[in-house]
Amino acid sequence: MQEPVPCLYVHVPFCARKCSYCAFYSEASDGGLMDRYVRALLRELETVAGDLRPRTIFFGGGTPTLLTLRHWGQIFRTLDRLGLLPVPEFTVEANPATISADKARLLREHGVNRVSLGVQSLDPGLLERLGRIHTPGQVFRSWDILRRAGFDNLNLDLMFGIPGQTLASWDATLDEALALQSEHLSCYEVIYEEDTPLFAQLQAGAFSVDEDLVCAQYERLLERAAAAGFFQYEVANFARDRRPPAPPTARLSGEFPAFACRHNINYWRAGDFHGLGPSATAYVRGVRTRNVADTRAWCEAVEQGRSPVVFREALSPLARAGEAAAFGLRVVTGWPYEEFRRRTGFDLRTEWAAELAELERRGWGVREPDRFRLTQAGLRFADAAAEMMLRPDPAPERDTPRTAILQPTRPAWSPAP
Ligand code: SF4
Repeated sequence: MQEPVPCLYVHVPFCARKCSYCAFYSEASDGGLMDRYVRALLRELETVAGDLRPRTIFFGGGTPTLLTLRHWGQIFRTLDRLGLLPVPEFTVEANPATISADKARLLREHGVNRVSLGVQSLDPGLLERLGRIHTPGQVFRSWDILRRAGFDNLNLDLMFGIPGQTLASWDATLDEALALQSEHLSCYEVIYEEDTPLFAQLQAGAFSVDEDLVCAQYERLLERAAAAGFFQYEVANFARDRRPPAPPTARLSGEFPAFACRHNINYWRAGDFHGLGPSATAYVRGVRTRNVADTRAWCEAVEQGRSPVVFREALSPLARAGEAAAFGLRVVTGWPYEEFRRRTGFDLRTEWAAELAELERRGWGVREPDRFRLTQAGLRFADAAAEMMLRPDPAPERDTPRTAILQPTRPAWSPAP
């Protein structure tokens, strides 16, 4: 009998307004379409429920907290009826402008135990530059609401490398963000995605990227997060092992700190996950699929009992192992050889001997007795290191042209709402 899938991602494709850097699939919220989306989502959920025993559920987007109390009530009732609740880790991404006390309480009462708050910056000018709808004041208000509702596992998403962001401004954001004493921090460098206003501005010469400044901001982040009691466990992710006021050096757990995001760890360890909603991808037993990135077309397909999948790719065992090697290098503790062999059937040391030697030669990686990991310098080039590990199939079994293979559902290391 096949093992049930341990993780579920749900894409909520609505945003109040499009941010200037964002390339994720989302559209303006509209009451009628949101009702229709929720009905279709619950139907799509029924189709995979029998193959799920979730240890993590993650609602991302888009802006999941734009869904109303009534929508959330429908979702929780269905999850419950299908026997999918409770789960050890249930995350909802939230925009600070869209959290009310009622919504926070409802989420908490129904087993959501982790909220990821899309703060990005606490500098009002930079928030405007990014096209965000929230203000710093709303961050602090929503923070209080979430804590009062009983959330004791909160993530803050921050961005650096924002055009116009000085080192002093980054420091000021870190001052205020660290003072909140979240359990988790995700900090991303701005990525200039094609088809975004920010990319167009860069192309038009409206600003330039100062790589030295971006490196200095990343260095500052590493220093300050460590000093505040966080353990870096992935290129862009930091978590506590215990709540303050425990001393920062008191690391209790093994491979990952206690508040590390289990859902994202599953991505980096190339684990299986189902994905629901428009544009969501899934990766189940070596087959990657992606749903149509159009809310109406996705609703129509689900309503008519057709599959909303527009892309399907079956990978060979070696190609799967190559992706696992690539993803897993983003984890600070690297890949334990034994775990890699157990998950993929391949020996990292022999199959990737040339790549590991090259990464070591560049000073990006280190072969330890039980594992291979990137160095702190190598983590800065994790994407380039990952490219080296891939073993694409010469003639992959696909239904449609392939797109970015390194992006599960929505990249685990990307800015959230
Ligand atoms: S960054 Fe988040 S809130 Fe902004 S448009 Fe993208 S998904 Fe929506």
